[in-house]
Amino acid sequence: GLGTDWAIDWVRRSAAVVGEHRAELSELDRAIGDGDHGENLDRGFRAVLAKLDGASPETPGAALRLVATTLISTVGGASGPLLGTAYLRGAQAAGDAERLDGTAVVALLAAARDGIVARGKAESGDKTMVDAWTPAVDAAQQALAAGGDASAVLSAAADAAESGAEATVPMVARKGRASYLGERSAGHLDPGARSSAYQLRAASDAVA
Ligand code: ADP
Ligand code: MG
Ligand code: MG
Repeated sequence: GLGTDWAIDWVRRSAAVVGEHRAELSELDRAIGDGDHGENLDRGFRAVLAKLDGASPETPGAALRLVATTLISTVGGASGPLLGTAYLRGAQAAGDAERLDGTAVVALLAAARDGIVARGKAESGDKTMVDAWTPAVDAAQQALAAGGDASAVLSAAADAAESGAEATVPMVARKGRASYLGERSAGHLDPGARSSAYQLRAASDAVA
């Protein structure tokens, strides 16, 4: 199973990939939103790294709880509370387990996705981060059912999140700022779906 070292490496890799793609994420948001998604998330994950240096989370759940509270308090905009809720629900699903097996990882991902949906009320096809998370959860469940371990589950989730993000291009936005554009939101990739795919790839790349 995946332990605290994995969770901390996930967090660090997420911070790194968000920093690396900050300009791209804001560029995507400039096309259909207000152009701040990269800055918002980068500010949040920098704050997470700063807190991680002082804290020593002892379980995967504790590490994810730190991410949740920090993103909620430092990321302005829609994505902060949404992702914060995702990490909080994921942390709750992980509980105080020291290691997460494939079943626990699927439960974590499903709880995170359910948190985003509970908070933002977006459905699949609304051109939001849900369009990365829901295919990721579905693929994770399939990988588990096919006998996959925690790593196989995460790898399937990351692949599906990337495809899901790509699939937002033709969609018309029905939630968030992009929905103000109506039909003109079609033809652009949703920034929150892209950043969610990066975070799920980070989870898969993190060293177990
Ligand atoms: P803001 O739109 O407030 O500037 P961000 O730019 O940080 O916030 O985040 C925008 C992203 O948030 C969108 O690309 C979309 O993926 C996501 N989002 C917005 N509203 C919702 C919602 N109701 N449900 C799920 N995701 C949403
Ligand atoms: Mg924005
Ligand atoms: Mg904004």
